[in-house]
Amino acid sequence: MPRDPDLLDKVINLAKRRGFVFPSAEIYGGFRSTYDYGPLGVNMLRNVRQAWWRSMVLERDDVVGLEAAILGPPAVWAASGHLETFTDPLVDCKRCKERWRADKIDGVCPNCGSTEFTEPRAFNLMFKTEAGPVEGEGATTYLRPETAQGMFTNFLNVLTSTRRRPPFGIAQVGKSFRNEITPQNFVFRTREFELMELEYFVAPGDAERWHRYWIEERFAWYVDLGIPDDQLRRHEHAPEDLSHYSRGTTDIEFLYPWGWDELEGVANRGDYDLVKHSTASGVRLEYFDTASGERYTPYTIEPAVGSTRAMMAFLLAAYHEDVIEGETRVVLRLDPRLAPFQVAVLPLSKKPELEGVAREVANQLRREFVCDYDVTQSIGRRYRRQDEVGTPLCVTVDFDSLEDHAVTVRDRDTTAQVRVSIDALVGELAGRLRVS
Ligand code: ATP
Repeated sequence: MPRDPDLLDKVINLAKRRGFVFPSAEIYGGFRSTYDYGPLGVNMLRNVRQAWWRSMVLERDDVVGLEAAILGPPAVWAASGHLETFTDPLVDCKRCKERWRADKIDGVCPNCGSTEFTEPRAFNLMFKTEAGPVEGEGATTYLRPETAQGMFTNFLNVLTSTRRRPPFGIAQVGKSFRNEITPQNFVFRTREFELMELEYFVAPGDAERWHRYWIEERFAWYVDLGIPDDQLRRHEHAPEDLSHYSRGTTDIEFLYPWGWDELEGVANRGDYDLVKHSTASGVRLEYFDTASGERYTPYTIEPAVGSTRAMMAFLLAAYHEDVIEGETRVVLRLDPRLAPFQVAVLPLSKKPELEGVAREVANQLRREFVCDYDVTQSIGRRYRRQDEVGTPLCVTVDFDSLEDHAVTVRDRDTTAQVRVSIDALVGELAGRLRVS
């Protein structure tokens, strides 16, 4: 099916109108490239994070979690190589003076079409600040540009406190900050974003195999959560394109409205980080196998994705327009595990006797599912509104409900309706939603 050329605008518009994503500080004219997550966006972002945490940590016995500090001392970033090499090539357009990332513009200024630029210079992407009460005399501090270093600096703490042995991983979800030269495409590339990263430590001889394993595992995660596999592909980096720490990186790419682009990176970082931090700190970050007497520095496999970027991909893939009873509707075909609301309870009218039962039903369902409750406008309009934000199931309480103690359950995708007794409702919905 040909892609809708207006898809990106439609999704951005829906996101704002329905409370998923707002431009930050909008009443002051906005603050370029920062976004706030509204009531529905918060629910969905939590679901993305939770789906990741569930598959990466809770459903495995070889991965544990961590939440490290966002502020860090220069020593960490000197050792990791970020102070020296975490740069992008910055050029100025000689005609319109706009600044660009040289590797993203194919030699033509996207603003004015000029092909004349200054020589590229290395621009460090880290946000630098000061810690301490006296301005100008504080200690230089950096906001982390990735969460990974917290996993490396805590390698021994986790190893000894949890008695792990490779292969094992440390997972973290948290805010990261990069002073991107050209933030763009909605929440695809922002200066403040949330990363979901796993550092998976393995014996050096097993690294290749685990690298391939994590590429497939991560690809399958997106498919399981509803992105069609023809909108995803693997892209292996050429050796000359690898980051300073990488021995091999394969991106999982998504077919965005502007074409194929990175969704997630899965890198084999070798022993780069643990060796660097061992040398710089003087603390040996190694694994000692008491059984074999073997001592080695593990290699690290790192799947890393922005939860905000992943949320955008899920929204783009879910957006559909179809025709129901001669009327076009917008429907987000989101997996129930990602949808902002799993169930909407809708009393047919505002009559107190109906609202009484509907509120009771909603209170009962809220213990199990994330629920919306909506009593305004016609039932048809309310169904459309729920379709548009991806609510998989609507529960309608009507006048018959007062007699038969049953409600109508309507399915978002098929619009099919079935009558279900209120006593059996939680079980029926749980079975259909596959959520817990
Ligand atoms: P690029 O070269 O496109 O700037 P990168 O390859 O340096 O990005 P990684 O360091 O591999 O990016 O980051 C891993 C993941 O983190 C990316 O695949 C993406 O999902 C997410 N990510 C990175 N930078 C940003 C950003 N500025 N905004 C949102 N998500 C980001």
